[in-house]
Amino acid sequence: MTIDLTIVNGKIFTSEGFKEGGIAIEGESILKVGKEPSLPKASLRINVKGALILPGLIDIHVHLRDFDQKQKETVETGTKAALAGGVTTVVDMPNNKPAMNSLKQLKKKEALVVGKAAVNVGFYSLLPETLEEIFSLARGGIFGFKIYPSATLYPHKKDEQLQQYMAKIALTSLPLIIHADAANAAEKEAELYSSNLPAIAAFLKAHPPQVEAQALKDFIILNEESKARLHCAHISSKKTTDVLEEYSKKTNLSSEVCPHYLFLTEKELQKQQGLAKCLPPLRTTTDQKALWQALIENKIKIIATDHAPHRYKEKFCEFEHAASGIAGLETLLPLMFTAAFKGKISFEGLIPKLTKNPAQFLGVADRGELLAGNFADVIVLAKEKTIIRAEEFQSKAKWSPFDGFHSAVTLKHVFVNGAHVKDEGHIILKARTGKLLKSKVKISEERVHPTEED
Ligand SMILES: [Zn+2]
Repeated sequence: MTIDLTIVNGKIFTSEGFKEGGIAIEGESILKVGKEPSLPKASLRINVKGALILPGLIDIHVHLRDFDQKQKETVETGTKAALAGGVTTVVDMPNNKPAMNSLKQLKKKEALVVGKAAVNVGFYSLLPETLEEIFSLARGGIFGFKIYPSATLYPHKKDEQLQQYMAKIALTSLPLIIHADAANAAEKEAELYSSNLPAIAAFLKAHPPQVEAQALKDFIILNEESKARLHCAHISSKKTTDVLEEYSKKTNLSSEVCPHYLFLTEKELQKQQGLAKCLPPLRTTTDQKALWQALIENKIKIIATDHAPHRYKEKFCEFEHAASGIAGLETLLPLMFTAAFKGKISFEGLIPKLTKNPAQFLGVADRGELLAGNFADVIVLAKEKTIIRAEEFQSKAKWSPFDGFHSAVTLKHVFVNGAHVKDEGHIILKARTGKLLKSKVKISEERVHPTEED
């Protein structure tokens, strides 16, 4: 039998670490992992000459925008950016215009994926208008609910009301994803901008680390009875890692960190101004050290980009008017793997945080690991130097605080559902092979066991 493809002569990442060998792909799936003589004959054989063969990265925090924010990004450009960055699955955030908080809007978003997305896409929802819609959205295949306590667009629900939502969400086993900040942070920010503080100082003062930590704590306490799965998005401060430490054994609590908090600090914000503006803000070197520590000690198990593209004029303007958010899909891989090559974190510690752990978080069983039978989402990475050039990004946001960063690695190949979509410098998009992903939730009206995360 001749199969479609073999990728041979690499270092393949398995559950037991790296092994010399390759991978056989037939159709959309991995047929076999092993050394070449044991792999079947293929119509296409790619010799990767000692490069790393890894599962495609899975990013659980991405803003693909589209709809009324097409100028910032679309599903098409955002997933192309993902592909260019070795990210083969993304989950899209719901703070869209119009807001993604109903089954009707979910259907509209799903229609953007099939035949258009370059990588696999799943969706989250905001808290819907009514409690009843929690179940319909869960059955519709969303991967979780996102709450922004500070955004004026999505008013903070009263605590009792929020607890009702939490109780209902708990029955779906989906996570409630928290943007930890004060409910009045936006008002406070506006007030501080009109004080005599410099704009950056005002911004930092409006979103201090203790408020981030306290907001997470408040959610944990509100959730004590319901025991919904909680996930803290973009942890940025030492104080928040302390809350993680205190509660992660008692609570079903997971978290993620973004590369910009690991690589940049307030100093960079002063230098790069609006370009490095994000929420939560960049913090101090003490915070940065605590985040690396939490990552290395596996207290934070997921790395996500919070890819948040904005237009040029929204980033390069007066600081107080600049939009918050950094485009991260095309810098995640060079940043994190350069850190691994430099010994900042082990490969064995890093890779699961970009692949297997996010797959587990999403409940996606057939991606995130290179195993026979799984979908063939595969990347090939060589230890060859490159430089991050933001002007060459596939994202509509062709600017980044990491422009000019010297990467120790080069992404050679990307395969999405078995299709070869990146070959050296070329992106092959004839077949847009990304799939629409849906969660597989089991809704239990009478829940016997609380869902445990790893
Ligand atoms: Zn975000």
